[in-house]
Amino acid sequence: MHPRARHAQTSIFTHMSLLAARHGAVNLGQGFPSNPPPAFLLDAARRAVGTVDQYTPPLGLPALREALGADLNVDPADVIVTSGATEGLLTLALSLLVPTRDGQPAELVVFEPVYDVYVPQAELAGARAVPVPLHLDPEEGWSLDLAAVRAAITPRTQALLVNTPHNPTGLVFSWAELTELVALAREHDLWLISDEVYDELYASERPTSLRELAPERTFTVGSAGKRLEVTGWRVGWILCPPGLGGGLSLAGGLANVRQVTSFCSPAPLQAAVAEALPLARSQGYYAALRADYAARRALLSSGLRSLGAQVHEPQGTYFLTAQHPTWTAEGLVESGAVAVIPGEAFYVTSPPPAGLLRFAFCKSRAELEQALERLARLS
Ligand code: GLN
Repeated sequence: MHPRARHAQTSIFTHMSLLAARHGAVNLGQGFPSNPPPAFLLDAARRAVGTVDQYTPPLGLPALREALGADLNVDPADVIVTSGATEGLLTLALSLLVPTRDGQPAELVVFEPVYDVYVPQAELAGARAVPVPLHLDPEEGWSLDLAAVRAAITPRTQALLVNTPHNPTGLVFSWAELTELVALAREHDLWLISDEVYDELYASERPTSLRELAPERTFTVGSAGKRLEVTGWRVGWILCPPGLGGGLSLAGGLANVRQVTSFCSPAPLQAAVAEALPLARSQGYYAALRADYAARRALLSSGLRSLGAQVHEPQGTYFLTAQHPTWTAEGLVESGAVAVIPGEAFYVTSPPPAGLLRFAFCKSRAELEQALERLARLS
């Protein structure tokens, strides 16, 4: 087997879901919503199957590129539809990270705790991910260490991968922090890859999109799975720097990669998302989702605190991180109580903070209550 396939092991998310099923534990591990997707999206999909069934262009169904352009206030020519954000990120790694002149792998700066696909994707692309730790203060929670980012940049660094709101911490990078990252990217001429799949899932303040600050070098990755609660549909997108679209230059290069990976995303699902995006906006769907998540976050967070966990309140995403003196992910799932994601899953260079666990609260109230009851019985 080629060494680049050595990461072909079961992902931690799949692994914990399997263990949850095996031990009858409440699954607060893998981040997929329990509640049904919006009816307007499902209706559109039912109409599209049997109507929009053949290949779409590799850049995406034109109606979806138009809808994304309108929703995100970008030129549809700069939009590429991908098979989930995961394929969008891989497409970018394969396209943007090129071997350096000294024959060494290109370097991609990422933040640690790091989402599980970033490091292996860089390696698949023949590059190397360089993790920069986020700082965890027991009282203040997570924060960005700009000096550490600066120290991680070498002549081989070609891109900086930002994830805001950040999985697993729920950290949202501030306008000031992003401005500093942009200054670093401009100084060292780096691409910015911005994974913004949780862009509509924020606690209070709308996250700043990196594209607003550095349109000339930012590739934004987004996800219909996250916005519309259909993680299995595999419809995501990349917004390219303006003017690099049009099929001739960078967007064309990305499309070349894409057409040999999955060629296009499922056509009827692209059509359904195209129809749903304006409805989600006009019907206040995202605001309602945020209010619902605020209530579920509060339920889980106060429940965990009352059981002795130190909760680091998230500013976005549907995850929260917490530390507990005696709980381990393995122990919790094997006792049949709750499946969560162990902190180790997000650390590649250093050990995680003691007792760090990630809880998903994109689950029903009943599941969250049941999880808390079972945890209470353990302590
Ligand atoms: N993004 C999801 C999470 O963080 C998992 C995605 C997956 O299982 N591939 O839980």
